[in-house]
Amino acid sequence: MKTGAEYEESLRKLSLKVYLQGELVENPVDHPMIRPSMNSVKATYALAEDSQFEDLMTATSHLSGKKVNRFCHLHQNTDDLVKKVKMQRLLGQKTASCFQRCVGMDAINAVDSVTFEMDENLGTTYHHRFTNFLSKVQEEDWTVDGAMTDPKGDRSLAPSKQVDPDLYVHVVEKRQDGIVVRGAKAHQTGAINSHWVLVMPTSAMKKDDADYAVSFALPADSEGIYYIYGRQSCDNRKLEGGDIDVGNKQFGGHEALIVFDDVFVPWENVFMCGEYQFSGALVERFAGYHRQSYGGCKVGVGDVLIGAAAVAADYNGAAKASHVKDKIIEMTHLNETLYACGIACSSEGHKLTSGTYLVNLLLANVCKQNVTRFPYEICRLAEDIAGGLMVTMPSEKDLRHPEIGGWVEKYLCGVAPVPTEHRMRILRLIENITLGTAAVGYRTESMHGAGSPQAQRIMISRQSNMEHKKETAKAIAGIETR
Ligand code: SF4
Ligand code: FE
Repeated sequence: MKTGAEYEESLRKLSLKVYLQGELVENPVDHPMIRPSMNSVKATYALAEDSQFEDLMTATSHLSGKKVNRFCHLHQNTDDLVKKVKMQRLLGQKTASCFQRCVGMDAINAVDSVTFEMDENLGTTYHHRFTNFLSKVQEEDWTVDGAMTDPKGDRSLAPSKQVDPDLYVHVVEKRQDGIVVRGAKAHQTGAINSHWVLVMPTSAMKKDDADYAVSFALPADSEGIYYIYGRQSCDNRKLEGGDIDVGNKQFGGHEALIVFDDVFVPWENVFMCGEYQFSGALVERFAGYHRQSYGGCKVGVGDVLIGAAAVAADYNGAAKASHVKDKIIEMTHLNETLYACGIACSSEGHKLTSGTYLVNLLLANVCKQNVTRFPYEICRLAEDIAGGLMVTMPSEKDLRHPEIGGWVEKYLCGVAPVPTEHRMRILRLIENITLGTAAVGYRTESMHGAGSPQAQRIMISRQSNMEHKKETAKAIAGIETR
């Protein structure tokens, strides 16, 4: 396994083509806007080195029998699924942001079982190729960007019917030695902190869209891959050099648009090429795992936000007010409900033919559907407790100013002897999670990450076994229909 320092060094060796605010970034690792997100991924390595977290952060590879980072592991039982969620909650608590590495973990688990089933049904040889790739992922302890979401253009049209055929990633040429792909993947979490990218189709494809049913892996700095860095609310504060106004100086997350400009993929890295019948299963499983993930990561960030709201109440003397206590209880109730769903869909997981365990899809979708709502309410209550000062407060530079700093110190103080600076710091943290750079990962990603709400409702409808419910009702009501 790599140490945190080795991970950082390994990123320096990549030559990624990253554009940020219209400029090509020479050194993404040390760029002040990108670095906090690198620190979050680095934490997935650093925590795995710490013996007190070994049980959650590491696992035994079913391929090599060696200890591997859990982010590179295929779930071998329901205990692995439960530990995954606990690991994500821990990392959410440690970083208060998106630590990005889960998309690759969820992608390898989904591609494993689907390539196995494709080979069983169609006589293809994808699973062997995938297992070779996975061995390298585990050996090198790579961070993999699991890339699913295409830009999608006109949502009412199928991939092959779009005015521009590149709005979904597709195969433009099949050669003896491999394929050439073109298109883009949007909202790619942690793309610039990844060693490899693992591409999957974005939806269930039909026969006409067979060229869009494509899955493959490539080194992140392959010829023809470009990254365009996503803006975040308040991101320019990271360029100011201070440490209060950013809210969370050390950690963050990022998303990017990845462009595949006629990129060559050797056959050994191709895991689906035209088998449209299996694209739906791949999407469903990846989404299922990632919806489970949110029952861990968002809960961990929620822990920090609830803690910050409670500290803010301590600092302004409102902590003993009964309505404040009740709001903290409500936030905790909502947060633990999300966790309960994450644990439940894991405990109710089952084994697939490849040997890898899949979550209970109904419960994973219920988990994510709750995530589209509860963090919003948790944010609302945190803002209620924080008070308006969270968004009207002067800057760190004002606090440090030789002439006016004294006034900021004097008039923004709360409970003595808590320094005004501490109060400012905790309010900026709440601002960061609810409205600032981390809000991408906590607030809006809760809505759209791992699929927008309607995608879960479709899955809930499909998995709900309504006929069985109707039968139970008829049986109790004494209705005989047979
Ligand atoms: Fe992991 Fe959560 Fe970020 Fe997804 S949003 S990559 S599950 S931390
Ligand atoms: Fe996500």
